[in-house]
Amino acid sequence: MNIILLGAPGAGKGTQAAIICKRLQIPTISTGNIIRAALKSGTEMGLKAKSYMDAGRLVPDEVVIGIIKERLSDDDCQGGFILDGFPRTIPQAEALDSMGIIIDKVIDIDVSDAEIISRLSGRRVCESCSDTYHVKYNPPVIENKCDKCNGTLVQRRDDHPNTVKDRLQVYHEQTEPLKGYYSKQGKLFVVKGEGDIDEITRLTLTAIEA
Ligand code: ADP
Ligand code: ADP
Ligand code: ZN
Repeated sequence: MNIILLGAPGAGKGTQAAIICKRLQIPTISTGNIIRAALKSGTEMGLKAKSYMDAGRLVPDEVVIGIIKERLSDDDCQGGFILDGFPRTIPQAEALDSMGIIIDKVIDIDVSDAEIISRLSGRRVCESCSDTYHVKYNPPVIENKCDKCNGTLVQRRDDHPNTVKDRLQVYHEQTEPLKGYYSKQGKLFVVKGEGDIDEITRLTLTAIEA
């Protein structure tokens, strides 16, 4: 099963992907995590992406399409995958189609802008393993420590309030049109993304299995 998780920044794509990929035994591919890892290890791609990311803008299509092309050709993706954060523009979706990749289901996790702003301001991520928490809604057992690996939790640079507004605008302008793109193909399922994390997982799995 080849699945896309769609939704605004902070909609809960990463949180849900982490749960669902274990249930379905398929890998999650997060372009955001791949880019942040490249940045951390100082590769040319990472450095090029940094200014876009910090400004809350999208990294150019050809860069992310290149990343995805390479990653989806790996052996572990041949039995299915979950895409978290890709595609984010119509040209990115068209690139998947022209690679001959068949997408089975697109799950849109629907969350209001007001909720997005409060989620992103409280989001914390593990420096070591990228696991995601929220200071209020999903706190770690020990303050600022990752439950899984005991790594330190930090706030992402692009989760600061000024950048969040720009990211939401980018989402509405460039990513939201993908809903129409996939709904025309009969692949779009909308899941209400506000409320209990386990309930959202249940709704998502129901949509995937439909
Ligand atoms: P979020 O978790 O808030 O949805 P991501 O971690 O997916 O954010 O992405 C963070 C940043 O990485 C984006 O704001 C953008 O700069 C870059 N990025 C990630 N995926 C893509 C993509 N598919 N196309 C362009 N830029 C991307
Ligand atoms: P995305 O990958 O779509 O950017 P995340 O999975 O990183 O979103 O979630 C954004 C923030 O919201 C994180 O701090 C996460 O812990 C929190 N979060 C995720 N799902 C929920 C939910 N259903 N209710 C409240 N907070 C949530
Ligand atoms: Zn960790």
